[in-house]
Amino acid sequence: MPTLANIDTGLWLCSGVCGAAMLVWLVVGTVVGTRRLKRNKRIARGYCPTCRYDFAGSLVVQCPECGYTLTESEHKRLERMHVALVRVREEERGGRDG
Ligand SMILES: [Zn+2]
Repeated sequence: MPTLANIDTGLWLCSGVCGAAMLVWLVVGTVVGTRRLKRNKRIARGYCPTCRYDFAGSLVVQCPECGYTLTESEHKRLERMHVALVRVREEERGGRDG
């Protein structure tokens, strides 16, 4: 028959397990999220997400340095950066000529 002490111990045990699981989830989520943010930031700046090779504004699918193949979303991000870079250069040229 369950006593009040057994129920209390069970609740503490359950809370401990749930708390530990949430802590692990939080730490893993933070680490994975931070890595993903760094990778996205590198691509948005025109660098390889793994070896930081500078794509120098070229639209590549595979990194010539380490051979990493960009995923479709990473390539789209690189494309957006490339379009923005071309616009800035055109504006700079227009500013000088006009
Ligand atoms: Zn690379």
